[in-house]
Amino acid sequence: MEFSSKLLEKAVNEMSQLPGIGKRTALRLVLHLLRQPNDQTMQLASALQNMRNEIKFCKSCHNISDTQLCEICANPHRTSDIICVVEDVRDVMAIENTSSFRGLYHVLGGKISPMDGVGPNDLNITSLVDKVKQGEIKELIFALSSTMEGDTTNFYIFKQIQDCDIVTSTIARGISVGNELEYTDEVTLGRSIMNRIPFESSLKS
Ligand SMILES: [Zn+2]
Repeated sequence: MEFSSKLLEKAVNEMSQLPGIGKRTALRLVLHLLRQPNDQTMQLASALQNMRNEIKFCKSCHNISDTQLCEICANPHRTSDIICVVEDVRDVMAIENTSSFRGLYHVLGGKISPMDGVGPNDLNITSLVDKVKQGEIKELIFALSSTMEGDTTNFYIFKQIQDCDIVTSTIARGISVGNELEYTDEVTLGRSIMNRIPFESSLKS
């Protein structure tokens, strides 16, 4: 792609670093911004900058938050002894949208995936196991997507807490294998949390 301006080229190159955005789309977006009032581009730039500079991860559940403790963890009306274990922030949003879960979350930040070089130590697993060992948790619900990586991660965590006196369950799968949670419709996802099954019985199937 030949550019008539180095500034334009730089902006297109940066934009095309985003997932799913090729050079052509990047050019279209950049030209669109150029046609808009200057304010609009400035607002976009400062929203991104503020997000990067100021966003925090909840010190308890690792959810993205504006404060040290996220709104969910800080809410006294949530049931604090039931924890739903999810892969990332998008899963928290998907489950919250169902309004059928009133416990807390634990965001792992990914799944164990040797192929991608992701091991247990790259994820927020230790803080989860510590939480369970402190004895304040009654139930852990595994809500990772049912892929091989999801199953491996569930099993790894299960082995760590097996001897603790808690219930472990997994969300019932009205969801076909390999479906990511965030794409599941709210009714199905809500139902699969209500109808969760004991984790150990999921191992036999
Ligand atoms: Zn939190």
